[in-house]
Amino acid sequence: METKKTMKAQTKQMNELEKLYKKESVLRKRYWNMMEDMKGKIRVYCRCRPFAKYEIDRKCQSVVDFPDDVTIKIKQERNDKEFVYDQCFSGTSSQEEVFEDCRRLVQSAMDGYNVCVFAYGQTGSGKTWTMVGKPEIEGCGGLTPRSIDELFLLAEQNKQTTTTKVSCYMIEIYNDNLVDLLYIMSMKEKGKKVRAGSEPRLDIKKDSKGMVVIQGAVVLECPTAERTMTIFDAGNKVRHVGSTKMNAESSRSHLIFAVLVEVYDKQTKKTANGKFSFIDLAGSERAGKTGATADRLKEAMSINKSLSALGNVISALSTNEKFIPYRDNKLTLVMSDSLGGNAKTLMFVNISPADYNCEETLTSLVYASRVKLITNEAKQEKDSAEVRRSECGSE
Ligand code: ADP
Ligand code: MG
Repeated sequence: METKKTMKAQTKQMNELEKLYKKESVLRKRYWNMMEDMKGKIRVYCRCRPFAKYEIDRKCQSVVDFPDDVTIKIKQERNDKEFVYDQCFSGTSSQEEVFEDCRRLVQSAMDGYNVCVFAYGQTGSGKTWTMVGKPEIEGCGGLTPRSIDELFLLAEQNKQTTTTKVSCYMIEIYNDNLVDLLYIMSMKEKGKKVRAGSEPRLDIKKDSKGMVVIQGAVVLECPTAERTMTIFDAGNKVRHVGSTKMNAESSRSHLIFAVLVEVYDKQTKKTANGKFSFIDLAGSERAGKTGATADRLKEAMSINKSLSALGNVISALSTNEKFIPYRDNKLTLVMSDSLGGNAKTLMFVNISPADYNCEETLTSLVYASRVKLITNEAKQEKDSAEVRRSECGSE
């Protein structure tokens, strides 16, 4: 009788504890995401690369100055120009430092949010360095390998209470066409050639939860961080030989690596579906500089169109317009679940410190300032809805 009583009491206590646990984990998510929101929906970071050796040899002068960690000054003959962003990183910033703020976004993706990090800037300004870096060299890995490591680390730490499933797709947008890099990669692995026009048709659709899916694209499971990076590397390798773009360089196309994160909570029996997109945009420079051929002009026009569409979407979000022109371009359509709404976006504007790049640098900074404007406005509107979504997860 006594034991029965004790057991009953213990069960009651367990139930209480479970209730407390659930309450606590909901609160944790809520505070976490509130804190993130206070920093704005779209955060803009500016990163300047260091001088390259050939620039030092040629005695190029620096036009940039960093008065504090949110301001960048461009020195000009007549009047200097100042720009303020959420954070500014000078040429001496390390990959680790730059990742520090991005680290938190991995938690958000696991909580069921769409997270998107993208790099904007002229070719040679450090976009790929920021997004990918050189993971094979200690300390040189960029945001993608570091976030992937963090994701699997968190999954491991939480494995008592949650099960995490990771998968990915990898798409390149070249001349307004979608190219499925993982399809090309898998054909190559099988020793098969991809003939132009023979690839499966890709359609940009939304699933019932509003998540963008690329219908027809290969989605691969990622059981470990190593496997995820192997897939990413292999996808990157076939970038140059994509059947629709025989002789284009990678800087002429947008690269989208989407990591899908499904977290099942064993206690609440709910699944949160998040996505972390890593986007290395095509170089933003004007066509003229590179001595354009007809092909190059076509590329440049297509890049120009997509980057201005991206700017327009962001600007429409900033002024709280009802209609957001996501459909104007494939780039913005693919990114539509990662800009505005519940998404958390981090934009890097990458720049060069050198005098001969000054014009492009100013153009990039002005573009990024337009993005920055929405930071404060968008956040007030959707705070409560966002917290609600994170509390509920999805069924
Ligand atoms: P983008 O992708 O914008 O064309 P890259 O990332 O390829 O530019 O950078 C151009 C060159 O500068 C590369 O050789 C890269 O390794 C180097 N680089 C860029 N940013 C940094 C940095 N912060 N620290 C060291 N090297 C850098
Ligand atoms: Mg690049």
